[in-house]
Amino acid sequence: MDCIFCRIVAGEIPGEVVAETDEILAFLDVMPLADGHVLVIPKMHARIVEDLPERTSGALMQVASRVSAALCREFGAAGTTMGINNGAETGQTVPHVHLHVVPRFPGDGAGSLHSAFPGFAKDANPLPGIAERLRQQLSDWAGA
Ligand code: AMP
Ligand code: ZN
Repeated sequence: MDCIFCRIVAGEIPGEVVAETDEILAFLDVMPLADGHVLVIPKMHARIVEDLPERTSGALMQVASRVSAALCREFGAAGTTMGINNGAETGQTVPHVHLHVVPRFPGDGAGSLHSAFPGFAKDANPLPGIAERLRQQLSDWAGA
């Protein structure tokens, strides 16, 4: 097994586990962006969120929500930034889905997620055309 997160799930390499369910594991990031930076992962190997059964992606967010609340209670975080680098081209370095939960504090100097996209020309393509294309793509989804 050459996936580092699968190896943590299997107990082959150590991880500072903070929460576990039948489908999900949550553990500290070894190179934290803040004290209490947690990675929430599915136990099954999947490269991107779309490869997960929807039950599992739901469970991922349930655990992330619990972790976020615990970080606010225990560390006095004012909130958390949650994010997934979903695919190699987005900056994902470990090809096993992981949801970052990073506690945030007043004056920590980190921006919002919007600050990751400084160069986008937001008025170039009108919203209704973009929305219509997506509605078409999503129209056969039972949950829509
Ligand atoms: P990403 O860039 O979104 O793929 O994030 C991968 C994250 O995994 C980074 O923040 C790393 O610090 C973290 N990481 C890599 N190896 C380990 C490990 N063995 N235990 C915990 N976190 C890890
Ligand atoms: Zn894996």
